Amino acid sequence: MFRGVVVLAWLVLACRSFAAESPKVVLFTGADPIQPAALVQLEAIRKQLDASPLQGAEVFLETLDGFRFGSENLTPEFLALMKKKYAHQHVDLVIGLGNYAADFSIKNHAEVWPGAPVLLSSVPEDWLSQRSLPDGFSTVPYRIDVAKTLSIAQALQPEAHRLVVVGGNADVDLRFVKRVVEAAEKNKAQWSVIEEWTGLPLNELQRRLALLDRNWAVVYTTMYRDRDGRRYFPYQAVAPMVEASHVPIYGWYSVYLKYGLTAGAVYDMEENGRKTGEVASSVLRGGHVEVSALPALPERCVANLSEFDRLGLSVSRLPSACRLVNPPPSVFREYRGTVVTLLGVLLAQSVTIAALLTQRRQRRRAEAEAGERRNDLARAARLATVGELSASIAHEVGQPLGAILSNADAADLLLTSSPANAEEVHEILADVRRDALRANEVVVRLRALLAKQSVSFSAMNLDETLTQSLPLIEPEARRRCITVKMLLNAGNVKIFGDRVQIQQILLNLALNSMDAMQHTAPDERVLSISTRLLDSGIELVVADRGHGLPAGAATRLFEPFFTTKAHGMGLGLSIVRAIAEAHHGRVNAAERNGGGTVISLTLPLWNGLREAGIEGGSRTAMDRTVNSTGRAAKS
Ligand code: ADP
Repeated sequence: MFRGVVVLAWLVLACRSFAAESPKVVLFTGADPIQPAALVQLEAIRKQLDASPLQGAEVFLETLDGFRFGSENLTPEFLALMKKKYAHQHVDLVIGLGNYAADFSIKNHAEVWPGAPVLLSSVPEDWLSQRSLPDGFSTVPYRIDVAKTLSIAQALQPEAHRLVVVGGNADVDLRFVKRVVEAAEKNKAQWSVIEEWTGLPLNELQRRLALLDRNWAVVYTTMYRDRDGRRYFPYQAVAPMVEASHVPIYGWYSVYLKYGLTAGAVYDMEENGRKTGEVASSVLRGGHVEVSALPALPERCVANLSEFDRLGLSVSRLPSACRLVNPPPSVFREYRGTVVTLLGVLLAQSVTIAALLTQRRQRRRAEAEAGERRNDLARAARLATVGELSASIAHEVGQPLGAILSNADAADLLLTSSPANAEEVHEILADVRRDALRANEVVVRLRALLAKQSVSFSAMNLDETLTQSLPLIEPEARRRCITVKMLLNAGNVKIFGDRVQIQQILLNLALNSMDAMQHTAPDERVLSISTRLLDSGIELVVADRGHGLPAGAATRLFEPFFTTKAHGMGLGLSIVRAIAEAHHGRVNAAERNGGGTVISLTLPLWNGLREAGIEGGSRTAMDRTVNSTGRAAKS
């Protein structure tokens, strides 16, 4: 054998040195090459040949499909065809797969492919041992250990003592069945009953299998043909058999496991193909002369886990080196990539959400603290404003108190005169009550303005709020000899705002106007407050006849701390703008025709905000901004 491969390698080398072209290889198989087992094997061979550094081999596939058609009658014609086909075609290597191809090559290679080395694969070890191979032949044999498959059945089903051996009635099928029966007969202690079911049509086979109980084990060999002459690929019988059977079915072809076979000492066609391809490319390269000494490929215990649950079998009974395939589907196993990605995404999301929540909590705490401080500041600013109004407030309260005092004196006089005039005393008391109420009103108004309260937005009528706020500015205007003219035309429509903040706007603007009119001629000292309805909302205009805007400062008026006054803080207008923005409005200052200043403020309507989905949604933002408002103290 060794000598043969040396010659084979030499021949190949000699040929290749003359022709620097890709090697020509004949892949010759007795079986149909498109049955899964053959396909797996052929693909593995092709892969190795393509990977060969010899520019990739040019491969010619030849087959007789003798298992299904019967090779005996066809061989003379097939031989004639092969001779004709390869008469003028140089061949570098013939790979014969299976017994028929091996037999044909041994007998006819000198006529069909003269001088070409031959590599036989998928040929049983014992078959080879009975033949002497011509020079130039090498082999990749295999071994099917039927006894080992039977021992796996015995391990998994120790209670089963009856054996059914299933196969077709083509020659190859019958040969395999005979082998299994012979092997089982050697183990009478385990297999007391052995039945051969050969050539049964599939439906009958299914019917019989369905009747078997757990005392039976089934070995399936091959089925190329049934007794009615119907042809199969052996794998095609596996799924229908598995479907009908309640007992395990054993066998030795790896492809069968895909279709539900339970277990077996498996001969791996892919491994065979890979090994054959390796040896073939080694021969084509002219190296590795030891290839002919290759041992038969081993059979390995393989078990189909997906059947174990259905048939109530225990994995622990399997030999320890058994490979487990087809685990039952589990979401994690089936979609491992997706599940891992999903878990990753979930984890990342959770971390992000946790970080965002912490951030939000911290921001809210900071906002709340800042809001509280700003609220305090705003209140302090209102207190300062009230300080500015103190003279007029003193007057406002002093007047009714003085009147009460006078009325008290008058009542005293009346009561000491006799007869006392009860009706007049009643009138005096009514006056006292009215004056007391007036004084009380001033105090209530101030208390409302200065009370420590949180900002509260609601739908409100602007004209009404302005009217209610008038008493806050009127006394100061009177004190400064300024006439206040109010022309409110916004009607019943509502804005969404905070009453105290709106009052603060009015106070800030009115006091600025009063300051600006300090040197205006008394008869021109008019402070106009008006409202009107626009498409976009309500416009509030505060206009005066003061000294007008400071030159070149129009753009800076609303900046915090901008002031032209000796003791000003420069916060009043910036607070007005902050409040306006918190109400989704805007404010603007301009020179007034004929002298003075016009400050106009536009506030959107409540309905409009609701339609835009802003009301309520931006509440926090409003609170935040509004909390920061307050009028600065003026001296
Ligand atoms: P302050 O009143 O403390 O100065 P403000 O922010 O209220 O702060 O006003 C900023 C500046 O804007 C004032 O100093 C003044 O120069 C100008 N200003 C405000 N209102 C008027 C007005 N009605 N007429 C003229 N100038 C004004």
